[in-house]
Amino acid sequence: MIDLRSDTVSRPTDAMRDVMANAEVGDDVFGDDPTVRALEGYVAELLGKEASVFVSSGTQSNLCALMAHCQRGDEYLVGAHAHTYMFEGGGAAVLGSIQPQTVPMLDSGMLDLDEARSAIKPDDAHFARTRLLCLENTTDGKVVGLEDLRAGRELVDEHNLGYHLDGARLWNAAVELAVSPSEIAAPFDTVSVCLSKGLGAPIGSVLTGSDPLIDEARKWRKMLGGAMRQVGLVAAAGKHAVENHIERLADDHRNAERLAEGLATIDGLIVDAQNTNMVFVSASRNIPDLEKRLLARGVITRWSGRSSRMVLHLDITPDDVDRALNLIEEELSR
Ligand SMILES: *Cc1c(COP(=O)(O)O)cnc(C)c1O
Repeated sequence: MIDLRSDTVSRPTDAMRDVMANAEVGDDVFGDDPTVRALEGYVAELLGKEASVFVSSGTQSNLCALMAHCQRGDEYLVGAHAHTYMFEGGGAAVLGSIQPQTVPMLDSGMLDLDEARSAIKPDDAHFARTRLLCLENTTDGKVVGLEDLRAGRELVDEHNLGYHLDGARLWNAAVELAVSPSEIAAPFDTVSVCLSKGLGAPIGSVLTGSDPLIDEARKWRKMLGGAMRQVGLVAAAGKHAVENHIERLADDHRNAERLAEGLATIDGLIVDAQNTNMVFVSASRNIPDLEKRLLARGVITRWSGRSSRMVLHLDITPDDVDRALNLIEEELSR
């Protein structure tokens, strides 16, 4: 099967399973798991921050960060279709009592900072306290550039806000910009990164930032039920992934280009965009049961109406891309 639904579908590699089987572990709630500590230290250093905390998912990571920055009745500024706002069950509001204030996003993937500025509430009893600006990079695979990230820093400094990055795919942005992950992380107070997307680990995210913010996040992680025991078994896979699978994301970006170029030549398809490891494609006419028909041929895709997002990852080779293109073309010409 060629699974193009997401970069979360990849399976742990044999090398990853080996390090998991042999990981040294301890009770991480007591701070005793050497593998977790090694992962946390490694990621903190890679992102140029003081501390980090290993968490179960990107959703939990962002929520711990938001709750570390904001108190009950505070507000955070967030992109109107950012993951944190749209796809995390409203956790900030539900569990954190943090009010989201959405801000329109530009085509570049950056928040409209003028809109963000004008959404900041005055210090007045009528309003929630605006406390935090939250960005996402990459977003829909789009890389938000360093200048934009730094412009956000200026805004938060003017207004004494915190600055959080949902960097689930920060690694893809770093590879695409050919900069170190720490350059992308530098303007932010906290950064969340996923190990289980393009890096291919089975589970886990890391939240990184200053000592006091990460201490606070660690407390929330416990309250959210995310403090785990001999979790070095899982952290070992994550550490292997960060050590070995960042550079290879360039292969995914090349495969995405290859897929986009191929799809563009197929009659009946329009490639809307290719951003890092993602390809956005639409059918120019209604094709009944396309998803099911492709599935029957061994290509797993997800369509919403006539549009699909196809995502490349470490289980997809250039040959798989070519095979998928042939099968898609055959199904469309039937
Ligand atoms: C996947 C994703 C998350 C959440 O990660 P989970 O591990 O699925 O909870 C957060 N932000 C972005 C941008 C993502 O793509």
